[in-house]
Amino acid sequence: MTDSPPFVNAHCHLELSGFSEPVRWNGSFPDWIAEVLRHRNQPDYSVETAVRRGEAELLQTGTVAAADIVQTDLPAAIPAANPRLTTRRFLELIAWTPEKAESRLARAEEFLQRNPSAGLSPHAPYTVCPELLDGVVSLSRKYRVPVAMHLAETPDESELLRHHCGPLLEMMRRADPHYNPKKTLSGGRPLDYLKQLSQAHRVLVIHGNDLDEEEIGFLASRRDNMSAVFCPVAHRYFGRKTYPLRQMSDAGVLVALGTDSRASWTGGMLSMRETVRVLLEDYPEMTPEEVLPMATVHGLMAAGLV
Ligand SMILES: [Zn+2]
Repeated sequence: MTDSPPFVNAHCHLELSGFSEPVRWNGSFPDWIAEVLRHRNQPDYSVETAVRRGEAELLQTGTVAAADIVQTDLPAAIPAANPRLTTRRFLELIAWTPEKAESRLARAEEFLQRNPSAGLSPHAPYTVCPELLDGVVSLSRKYRVPVAMHLAETPDESELLRHHCGPLLEMMRRADPHYNPKKTLSGGRPLDYLKQLSQAHRVLVIHGNDLDEEEIGFLASRRDNMSAVFCPVAHRYFGRKTYPLRQMSDAGVLVALGTDSRASWTGGMLSMRETVRVLLEDYPEMTPEEVLPMATVHGLMAAGLV
């Protein structure tokens, strides 16, 4: 696409590109996660085929670089589909107890030694205990690699952080009856996580839908190593409340854009052009001149690709 700007996708899960349709959204985030896992864990589901499909779609729609979250080593081991697409793989890490954190951190360090241009992704506040978060921040500094974490994504997450109850607690208790939010959560609000993450080499805050003014100010003050990644298509799909894009942009937050995964994608091929189109439709107060850097150079800066 010679007329395309060099799009950069700052958040995707290419291993979910085997989904031909988005997962049905019934208003329950735990139900949605369960459905994603059910689909992803089917015996005939091929991660390699999915990653290849996702990369091919991004290439065809003019994307030159992508920050991709992976659950296993496999996508990182898949040779680059095309030298025109630079893909930085972030290993997803989940551990809600200190015992699990130790083994996950050992695995993360091995992954970084094998893949020096990769990154780490402690999944989200409800699945990442303080020991894992601390360890990831240390590894990020030691290996000078970026960290991507889903944060302030859903009202359920806010409820769990503030009140230690709600649908995400129920979901975690179904997975582990001993799940204890007092031991797993690193704080009572996203700011507690932002402060800890700010010690990492570089940080992508994925979504940040529910960040308040103080948290947006904090991100802006750490613009040299922290960014927020907005995914307009997924945001519309989930029917989230208005993203604080104007506030973030005016405050000076480094905002990048992502497609997120095919499990919440409604726009045909995975495409940053479609991402920008949806953003401009839903946020008419934003100008193309403001948005284009978010879809290009901000992504490179956010993921440490420049
Ligand atoms: Zn994600």
